[in-house]
Amino acid sequence: MNVDDLPIRDDLKGRKPYGAPQIDVPVRLNTNENPYPPSKALVDDLAEAVRRHASELNRYPDRDAVELRADLAGYLGHGLAPEQVWAANGSNEVLQQILQAFGGHGRTAMGFEPSYSMHPIITTGTNTEWIAGAREEDFALDADKAVAAVEEHRPDIVFLTSPNNPTGTALPLETIRRVLEAADGMVVVDEAYAEFARSGTASALSLLPEYPRLIVTRTMSKAFAMAGTRLGYLAAHRAVVEALLLVRLPYHLSTLTQTAARVALAHRAELLGTVDELRAERDATVEWLRAKGLTVADSDANFVLFGRFADRRRIWEGVLAGGVLIREVGPPGWLRVSIGTGEEMTAFRAAMEGVL
Ligand code: PMP
Repeated sequence: MNVDDLPIRDDLKGRKPYGAPQIDVPVRLNTNENPYPPSKALVDDLAEAVRRHASELNRYPDRDAVELRADLAGYLGHGLAPEQVWAANGSNEVLQQILQAFGGHGRTAMGFEPSYSMHPIITTGTNTEWIAGAREEDFALDADKAVAAVEEHRPDIVFLTSPNNPTGTALPLETIRRVLEAADGMVVVDEAYAEFARSGTASALSLLPEYPRLIVTRTMSKAFAMAGTRLGYLAAHRAVVEALLLVRLPYHLSTLTQTAARVALAHRAELLGTVDELRAERDATVEWLRAKGLTVADSDANFVLFGRFADRRRIWEGVLAGGVLIREVGPPGWLRVSIGTGEEMTAFRAAMEGVL
Protein backbone atom coordinates (compact mmCIF):
# COMPACT_ATOMS: atom_id res chain seq x y z
CA MET A 1 0.00 0.00 0.00
CA ASN A 2 1.17 3.52 -0.76
CA VAL A 3 0.48 6.82 0.98
CA ASP A 4 -1.91 7.85 -1.77
CA ASP A 5 -4.03 4.72 -1.20
CA LEU A 6 -4.86 6.02 2.28
CA PRO A 7 -7.76 8.42 2.82
CA ILE A 8 -5.20 11.23 3.04
CA ARG A 9 -6.09 14.90 2.35
CA ASP A 10 -6.22 15.52 -1.42
CA ASP A 11 -3.74 18.39 -1.21
CA LEU A 12 -1.10 16.14 0.40
CA LYS A 13 -1.29 13.48 -2.33
CA GLY A 14 1.89 13.11 -4.37
CA ARG A 15 3.89 15.45 -2.09
CA LYS A 16 7.47 14.77 -1.05
CA PRO A 17 8.53 15.30 2.58
CA TYR A 18 10.94 18.19 3.25
CA GLY A 19 14.50 17.35 4.13
CA ALA A 20 18.09 17.69 3.07
CA PRO A 21 19.84 14.36 2.43
CA GLN A 22 21.51 13.18 5.66
CA ILE A 23 24.54 11.48 4.15
CA ASP A 24 27.37 10.24 6.32
CA VAL A 25 30.42 12.07 4.92
CA PRO A 26 33.46 13.56 6.65
CA VAL A 27 32.44 17.18 6.03
CA ARG A 28 28.77 18.19 6.26
CA LEU A 29 28.11 21.73 5.07
CA ASN A 30 24.46 21.40 4.05
CA THR A 31 22.10 22.42 6.87
CA ASN A 32 23.55 25.70 8.20
CA GLU A 33 24.50 24.31 11.59
CA ASN A 34 27.27 25.81 13.70
CA PRO A 35 30.24 23.42 13.24
CA TYR A 36 31.62 23.91 16.76
CA PRO A 37 30.41 21.37 19.35
CA PRO A 38 29.70 22.51 22.92
CA SER A 39 32.67 22.74 25.30
CA LYS A 40 33.30 20.28 28.11
CA ALA A 41 32.24 22.96 30.63
CA LEU A 42 28.87 23.31 28.90
CA VAL A 43 28.41 19.56 28.57
CA ASP A 44 29.19 19.16 32.29
CA ASP A 45 26.73 21.88 33.30
CA LEU A 46 24.08 20.39 31.06
CA ALA A 47 24.60 16.89 32.46
CA GLU A 48 24.32 18.28 35.98
CA ALA A 49 21.15 20.23 35.16
CA VAL A 50 19.57 17.19 33.50
CA ARG A 51 20.44 15.10 36.57
CA ARG A 52 18.73 17.70 38.79
CA HIS A 53 15.57 17.76 36.69
CA ALA A 54 15.47 14.02 35.95
CA SER A 55 13.83 13.35 39.29
CA GLU A 56 10.88 15.55 38.24
CA LEU A 57 10.20 13.76 34.98
CA ASN A 58 7.08 12.07 36.38
CA ARG A 59 5.55 15.58 36.22
CA TYR A 60 4.64 17.59 33.13
CA PRO A 61 6.98 20.48 32.29
CA ASP A 62 6.16 24.13 32.98
CA ARG A 63 3.50 24.57 30.29
CA ASP A 64 4.37 28.22 29.79
CA ALA A 65 8.18 27.87 30.02
CA VAL A 66 8.25 30.97 32.22
CA GLU A 67 11.91 30.85 33.30
CA LEU A 68 13.16 30.07 29.82
CA ARG A 69 11.14 32.93 28.32
CA ALA A 70 12.58 35.31 30.91
CA ASP A 71 16.10 34.17 29.95
CA LEU A 72 15.33 34.61 26.24
CA ALA A 73 13.89 38.10 26.84
CA GLY A 74 17.09 38.97 28.71
CA TYR A 75 19.19 37.74 25.81
CA LEU A 76 17.21 39.66 23.19
CA GLY A 77 17.24 42.96 25.13
CA HIS A 78 15.27 45.78 23.45
CA GLY A 79 13.35 46.16 26.70
CA LEU A 80 11.33 43.01 25.99
CA ALA A 81 9.24 41.49 28.79
CA PRO A 82 9.05 37.69 29.19
CA GLU A 83 5.34 37.92 28.27
CA GLN A 84 6.41 39.13 24.82
CA VAL A 85 8.52 36.05 24.16
CA TRP A 86 7.32 32.60 23.18
CA ALA A 87 9.29 29.38 22.58
CA ALA A 88 8.69 26.04 20.89
CA ASN A 89 10.53 23.07 19.41
CA GLY A 90 12.56 24.90 16.79
CA SER A 91 11.43 28.05 15.02
CA ASN A 92 9.62 25.77 12.59
CA GLU A 93 7.16 24.91 15.37
CA VAL A 94 6.89 28.59 16.28
CA LEU A 95 6.02 29.32 12.64
CA GLN A 96 3.49 26.50 12.59
CA GLN A 97 1.77 27.91 15.69
CA ILE A 98 1.65 31.34 14.02
CA LEU A 99 -0.03 29.76 10.98
CA GLN A 100 -2.45 27.85 13.19
CA ALA A 101 -3.50 31.04 14.96
CA PHE A 102 -3.48 33.54 12.08
CA GLY A 103 -3.82 31.37 8.95
CA GLY A 104 -6.07 28.45 8.09
CA HIS A 105 -8.83 27.71 5.61
CA GLY A 106 -9.81 30.72 3.49
CA ARG A 107 -6.74 32.69 4.57
CA THR A 108 -3.47 33.47 2.78
CA ALA A 109 0.21 33.85 3.57
CA MET A 110 2.77 35.47 1.32
CA GLY A 111 6.54 35.32 0.99
CA PHE A 112 9.16 36.54 -1.47
CA GLU A 113 11.02 33.78 -3.27
CA PRO A 114 13.58 32.33 -3.41
CA SER A 115 13.28 31.99 0.35
CA TYR A 116 12.99 29.38 3.09
CA SER A 117 10.99 26.53 1.58
CA MET A 118 9.38 25.59 4.90
CA HIS A 119 7.33 28.81 4.83
CA PRO A 120 5.10 27.56 1.98
CA ILE A 121 5.14 24.00 3.38
CA ILE A 122 3.93 25.07 6.83
CA THR A 123 1.45 27.44 5.16
CA THR A 124 -0.19 24.79 3.00
CA GLY A 125 0.12 22.19 5.76
CA THR A 126 -2.20 24.35 7.87
CA ASN A 127 -4.66 24.70 4.98
CA THR A 128 -3.59 28.25 4.29
CA GLU A 129 -3.15 29.42 0.70
CA TRP A 130 0.43 30.37 -0.30
CA ILE A 131 1.07 33.43 -2.44
CA ALA A 132 4.56 33.61 -3.93
CA GLY A 133 6.00 37.11 -4.33
CA ALA A 134 9.36 37.61 -6.02
CA ARG A 135 12.79 38.98 -5.21
CA GLU A 136 15.04 40.81 -7.65
CA GLU A 137 17.76 39.22 -9.77
CA ASP A 138 20.32 39.94 -7.00
CA PHE A 139 17.87 38.51 -4.37
CA ALA A 140 17.16 41.92 -2.83
CA LEU A 141 13.56 42.86 -2.10
CA ASP A 142 12.28 45.89 -3.99
CA ALA A 143 10.28 47.76 -1.34
CA ASP A 144 7.88 49.35 -3.86
CA LYS A 145 7.11 46.00 -5.47
CA ALA A 146 6.73 44.28 -2.10
CA VAL A 147 4.28 46.95 -0.95
CA ALA A 148 2.36 46.68 -4.24
CA ALA A 149 2.15 42.87 -3.85
CA VAL A 150 0.92 43.17 -0.27
CA GLU A 151 -1.67 45.78 -1.28
CA GLU A 152 -2.84 43.63 -4.18
CA HIS A 153 -3.20 40.34 -2.26
CA ARG A 154 -3.92 41.58 1.29
CA PRO A 155 -2.41 38.43 2.85
CA ASP A 156 -3.26 37.46 6.42
CA ILE A 157 0.44 36.76 7.02
CA VAL A 158 3.55 38.15 5.29
CA PHE A 159 6.91 36.41 5.68
CA LEU A 160 10.08 38.47 5.42
CA THR A 161 13.24 36.42 5.91
CA SER A 162 16.24 38.47 6.98
CA PRO A 163 18.94 37.33 6.46
CA ASN A 164 17.23 35.28 3.80
CA ASN A 165 17.77 31.54 3.29
CA PRO A 166 19.12 30.31 0.86
CA THR A 167 20.47 33.60 -0.50
CA GLY A 168 22.00 35.21 2.63
CA THR A 169 20.41 38.59 1.84
CA ALA A 170 19.46 40.85 4.78
CA LEU A 171 16.68 43.41 4.46
CA PRO A 172 17.08 47.09 5.30
CA LEU A 173 14.87 48.07 8.25
CA GLU A 174 13.17 50.61 5.98
CA THR A 175 11.87 47.83 3.69
CA ILE A 176 10.42 45.98 6.67
CA ARG A 177 8.82 49.19 7.87
CA ARG A 178 7.25 49.84 4.45
CA VAL A 179 5.72 46.32 4.42
CA LEU A 180 4.46 46.78 8.00
CA GLU A 181 2.78 50.04 6.99
CA ALA A 182 1.14 48.38 3.96
CA ALA A 183 0.03 45.10 5.57
CA ASP A 184 -3.18 44.68 7.48
CA GLY A 185 -2.31 41.14 8.60
CA MET A 186 0.56 39.78 10.66
CA VAL A 187 4.14 40.35 9.47
CA VAL A 188 6.64 37.66 10.43
CA VAL A 189 10.30 38.60 10.16
CA ASP A 190 12.21 35.31 10.24
CA GLU A 191 15.59 36.20 11.77
CA ALA A 192 16.98 32.67 12.12
CA TYR A 193 20.41 33.94 11.03
CA ALA A 194 20.35 37.41 12.63
CA GLU A 195 23.49 36.90 14.74
CA PHE A 196 25.59 36.34 11.60
CA ALA A 197 24.64 39.62 9.90
CA ARG A 198 27.42 42.03 9.02
CA SER A 199 27.76 44.92 11.44
CA GLY A 200 25.30 47.73 10.85
CA THR A 201 22.42 45.38 10.02
CA ALA A 202 19.57 46.30 12.35
CA SER A 203 17.18 43.71 13.79
CA ALA A 204 13.42 44.07 13.34
CA LEU A 205 13.23 43.73 17.14
CA SER A 206 13.76 47.50 17.25
CA LEU A 207 10.41 47.96 15.44
CA LEU A 208 8.32 45.98 17.93
CA PRO A 209 7.21 48.94 20.09
CA GLU A 210 5.69 50.61 17.01
CA TYR A 211 4.03 47.63 15.29
CA PRO A 212 1.75 45.32 17.31
CA ARG A 213 1.26 42.96 14.35
CA LEU A 214 5.00 42.34 13.92
CA ILE A 215 6.47 38.98 14.97
CA VAL A 216 10.23 38.41 14.99
CA THR A 217 11.28 34.74 15.04
CA ARG A 218 14.69 33.46 16.11
CA THR A 219 16.33 30.10 16.77
CA MET A 220 19.05 28.49 18.87
CA SER A 221 19.83 26.13 15.95
CA LYS A 222 22.29 28.37 14.11
CA ALA A 223 24.55 30.90 15.84
CA PHE A 224 23.76 29.33 19.23
CA ALA A 225 25.13 25.96 18.08
CA MET A 226 22.20 24.07 19.62
CA ALA A 227 20.42 22.58 16.59
CA GLY A 228 20.00 19.27 18.41
CA THR A 229 18.12 20.91 21.27
CA ARG A 230 15.27 22.10 18.99
CA LEU A 231 14.54 25.48 20.47
CA GLY A 232 13.04 28.33 18.49
CA TYR A 233 11.41 31.47 19.83
CA LEU A 234 9.73 34.72 18.93
CA ALA A 235 9.26 38.23 20.21
CA ALA A 236 6.03 40.13 19.62
CA HIS A 237 3.28 42.09 21.34
CA ARG A 238 2.03 40.18 24.40
CA ALA A 239 -1.40 39.80 22.75
CA VAL A 240 0.29 37.79 19.98
CA VAL A 241 1.70 35.39 22.57
CA GLU A 242 -1.78 35.08 24.12
CA ALA A 243 -3.13 34.17 20.67
CA LEU A 244 -0.54 31.39 20.32
CA LEU A 245 -1.56 29.91 23.68
CA LEU A 246 -4.88 29.08 22.00
CA VAL A 247 -3.25 26.68 19.53
CA ARG A 248 -0.12 25.34 21.20
CA LEU A 249 -0.26 21.79 22.48
CA PRO A 250 -0.18 21.63 26.28
CA TYR A 251 3.33 20.82 27.58
CA HIS A 252 4.80 21.09 24.06
CA LEU A 253 8.27 21.98 25.37
CA SER A 254 9.77 19.15 27.40
CA THR A 255 11.49 19.69 30.75
CA LEU A 256 14.73 18.48 29.14
CA THR A 257 14.44 20.93 26.25
CA GLN A 258 13.76 23.84 28.59
CA THR A 259 16.69 22.78 30.76
CA ALA A 260 19.11 22.46 27.84
CA ALA A 261 18.08 25.80 26.39
CA ARG A 262 18.56 27.56 29.74
CA VAL A 263 22.02 26.06 30.21
CA ALA A 264 22.94 27.09 26.66
CA LEU A 265 21.74 30.65 27.34
CA ALA A 266 23.87 30.76 30.48
CA HIS A 267 26.85 29.79 28.29
CA ARG A 268 26.02 32.21 25.52
CA ALA A 269 29.37 33.98 25.60
CA GLU A 270 31.03 30.71 24.63
CA LEU A 271 28.40 29.61 22.11
CA LEU A 272 28.18 32.94 20.33
CA GLY A 273 31.96 33.32 20.56
CA THR A 274 32.32 31.37 17.32
CA VAL A 275 30.14 33.79 15.35
CA ASP A 276 32.95 36.22 14.49
CA GLU A 277 35.12 33.38 13.28
CA LEU A 278 32.30 32.02 11.11
CA ARG A 279 31.63 35.48 9.69
CA ALA A 280 35.30 35.87 8.73
CA GLU A 281 35.31 32.39 7.18
CA ARG A 282 32.12 33.28 5.27
CA ASP A 283 33.60 36.48 3.85
CA ALA A 284 36.75 34.59 2.83
CA THR A 285 34.58 31.94 1.12
CA VAL A 286 32.68 34.62 -0.83
CA GLU A 287 35.98 36.10 -1.99
CA TRP A 288 37.47 32.75 -2.93
CA LEU A 289 34.42 31.72 -4.98
CA ARG A 290 34.39 35.09 -6.76
CA ALA A 291 38.08 34.76 -7.53
CA LYS A 292 37.17 31.48 -9.23
CA GLY A 293 34.92 33.49 -11.55
CA LEU A 294 31.68 32.32 -9.94
CA THR A 295 28.65 34.46 -9.15
CA VAL A 296 28.18 34.72 -5.39
CA ALA A 297 25.32 36.34 -3.49
CA ASP A 298 26.33 38.75 -0.70
CA SER A 299 25.76 36.93 2.59
CA ASP A 300 24.75 38.05 6.07
CA ALA A 301 24.26 34.45 7.18
CA ASN A 302 26.41 31.37 7.89
CA PHE A 303 26.15 30.08 4.33
CA VAL A 304 26.92 31.23 0.83
CA LEU A 305 24.86 30.78 -2.35
CA PHE A 306 26.96 30.50 -5.46
CA GLY A 307 26.59 29.58 -9.14
CA ARG A 308 25.64 29.59 -11.78
CA PHE A 309 26.15 26.12 -13.13
CA ALA A 310 24.64 24.68 -16.28
CA ASP A 311 24.54 21.34 -14.44
CA ARG A 312 24.54 21.95 -10.67
CA ARG A 313 23.88 18.27 -9.94
CA ARG A 314 27.26 17.44 -11.49
CA ILE A 315 29.04 19.98 -9.27
CA TRP A 316 27.14 18.81 -6.14
CA GLU A 317 28.07 15.19 -6.87
CA GLY A 318 31.68 16.09 -7.59
CA VAL A 319 32.02 17.96 -4.29
CA LEU A 320 30.37 15.01 -2.52
CA ALA A 321 32.89 12.65 -4.14
CA GLY A 322 35.52 14.90 -2.52
CA GLY A 323 33.98 14.09 0.88
CA VAL A 324 32.03 17.34 1.30
CA LEU A 325 28.24 17.52 1.44
CA ILE A 326 26.75 20.83 0.28
CA ARG A 327 23.13 21.67 -0.60
CA GLU A 328 21.42 21.63 -3.94
CA VAL A 329 18.93 24.37 -3.17
CA GLY A 330 17.79 27.74 -4.47
CA PRO A 331 17.04 28.76 -8.05
CA PRO A 332 18.27 26.44 -10.82
CA GLY A 333 22.03 26.71 -11.33
CA TRP A 334 22.88 27.68 -7.75
CA LEU A 335 24.36 25.72 -4.84
CA ARG A 336 24.65 26.57 -1.14
CA VAL A 337 27.52 25.86 1.21
CA SER A 338 27.19 26.26 4.97
CA ILE A 339 30.20 27.76 6.71
CA GLY A 340 32.21 25.20 8.67
CA THR A 341 35.50 25.30 10.56
CA GLY A 342 38.65 26.53 8.82
CA GLU A 343 39.62 22.93 8.19
CA GLU A 344 36.23 22.07 6.72
CA MET A 345 36.35 25.08 4.41
CA THR A 346 39.81 23.99 3.22
CA ALA A 347 38.26 20.61 2.37
CA PHE A 348 35.41 22.40 0.57
CA ARG A 349 37.83 24.46 -1.52
CA ALA A 350 39.85 21.36 -2.41
CA ALA A 351 36.69 19.49 -3.41
CA MET A 352 35.60 22.46 -5.53
CA GLU A 353 39.00 22.62 -7.25
CA GLY A 354 38.44 18.98 -8.18
CA VAL A 355 35.23 19.68 -10.08
CA LEU A 356 35.67 23.17 -11.51
N1 PMP B 1 13.92 29.88 9.42
C1 PMP B 1 14.90 29.81 8.51
C2 PMP B 1 15.09 30.95 7.56
C3 PMP B 1 15.71 28.67 8.47
O1 PMP B 1 16.67 28.59 7.54
C4 PMP B 1 15.52 27.62 9.39
C5 PMP B 1 16.37 26.38 9.41
N2 PMP B 1 16.82 25.91 8.24
C6 PMP B 1 14.47 27.75 10.29
C7 PMP B 1 13.70 28.90 10.31
C8 PMP B 1 14.09 26.67 11.26
O2 PMP B 1 15.06 26.35 12.13
P1 PMP B 1 14.75 25.60 13.52
O3 PMP B 1 13.42 24.93 13.38
O4 PMP B 1 15.88 24.67 13.67
O5 PMP B 1 14.72 26.69 14.53
